[in-house]
Amino acid sequence: MIVILKEHPDRVQLDNLMNWLNTQDVMVQPTVGEHQMILGLIGDTASIDDELISALDIVEAVKRVSEPYKKANRKFHPDDTIVRIDDHTSIGGGALTLIAGPCSVESEDQIIGIAEAVKKSGATILRGGAFKPRTSPYSFQGMGLEGIRLLLAAKEATGLPICTEIMDASQLPIFEDIDILQVGARNMQNFSLLKELGKTQKPVLLKRGMSATYQDWLMSAEYILAGGNPNVILCERGIRTFETYTRNTLDLSCIPALRALTHLPIVIDPSHASGRSALVPDLSKAATAAGADGLLIEVHNDPAHARCDGPQSLTPEVFDRLAKKLFAIRDVCGDDRRDVIIK
Ligand code: PEP
Ligand code: MN
Repeated sequence: MIVILKEHPDRVQLDNLMNWLNTQDVMVQPTVGEHQMILGLIGDTASIDDELISALDIVEAVKRVSEPYKKANRKFHPDDTIVRIDDHTSIGGGALTLIAGPCSVESEDQIIGIAEAVKKSGATILRGGAFKPRTSPYSFQGMGLEGIRLLLAAKEATGLPICTEIMDASQLPIFEDIDILQVGARNMQNFSLLKELGKTQKPVLLKRGMSATYQDWLMSAEYILAGGNPNVILCERGIRTFETYTRNTLDLSCIPALRALTHLPIVIDPSHASGRSALVPDLSKAATAAGADGLLIEVHNDPAHARCDGPQSLTPEVFDRLAKKLFAIRDVCGDDRRDVIIK
């Protein structure tokens, strides 16, 4: 249930309402918006009389929320969440953030060279896998701890914050200096991992599972939020369909749909969605025009010899040309984000 208060509610009446709600066996989550304050009631609200609350002078409206995700729900939190990554970088709220880098870290020269190139093109976050969740146990599994060390060397050299995949909660101590913990598609419903990430304050990039609905995905986000970590970024990376030409099918509908359902930032990964570098520029442009908060793009200095995901990786030169177009598109379409109305 949500209680929407009138502007500038009387302090005493608000305290009385809060005190009464606190006796009702529900958790009260206040959200202070630009103009209005909202109280989100989480728990069993069946016995709470909404008409009684509606009748109060300070209350504008009371709504019952049927969706099972509460903290991720736009109704509880009308303003966009902006996830702060470091003093200069954030994701959400309409700016376009480019996250770029190789699928996997391969050497110090490779990761620092790519980091310098993508930074010059306007990327503000470096991606790179150290621990790789591969479909085959015989494929390259990533450089592991050494990969983390090289990512931190690239951060030191360029100042770019790092986004890399965590596969298991036991790895948390070695990810201490990593800026964004990526949860891969295959781990979207690894609930023990999500619960542990909820106990941290680290930004988490939560990829959509290959056959996850929006609700499944938002419920996974809810695990992290419910644990006390508000810094969740959603990342669409394509879903499984009957099409085999592309690696997956990019679901661009998720941008406007999730914009209405949730306040969390939405990043699009056209590289894993398509599996083909030739498709990545157009998908990136479409996602930018549709209002994505960021793009996660695989960039490799030598895609033909990449140890992982070469066919979908852009060269730094192609990425540079693309980035210029993306910022230009965002300038034209940036104001199109719709005001979301609580229905
Ligand atoms: C990746 O980002 O390299 C990756 C493995 O992604 P996903 O979990 O979307 O397959
Ligand atoms: Mn990859």
